[in-house]
Amino acid sequence: MATTTRDDDLLTDVFDDEGDRPRGCRWDESVCTSSPEYRVLAGHGDTFDDVLTFCPRHYALYLARLVEVHAPGCAGSLRDHIAEYGPISG
Ligand SMILES: [Zn+2]
Ligand SMILES: [Zn+2]
Repeated sequence: MATTTRDDDLLTDVFDDEGDRPRGCRWDESVCTSSPEYRVLAGHGDTFDDVLTFCPRHYALYLARLVEVHAPGCAGSLRDHIAEYGPISG
């Protein structure tokens, strides 16, 4: 059987072995058991390899933290940190 490389490998990485259920909210400041509804493809400079999934509340907090806490001390723009973001489809 041929092995195919899919462009969306990074995104499928956030799903568990059952294939279609995200593992959980990735908020790193507290344990969150809410089901994730949004994803962010995050990185720095030109490497984007961090796929993060968040519940709606922590998605908003993540973006706010990036803008209000990280951005003032960083020369990069928001687009240098987030390649893709939005609701998890399906
Ligand atoms: Zn959360
Ligand atoms: Zn930065």
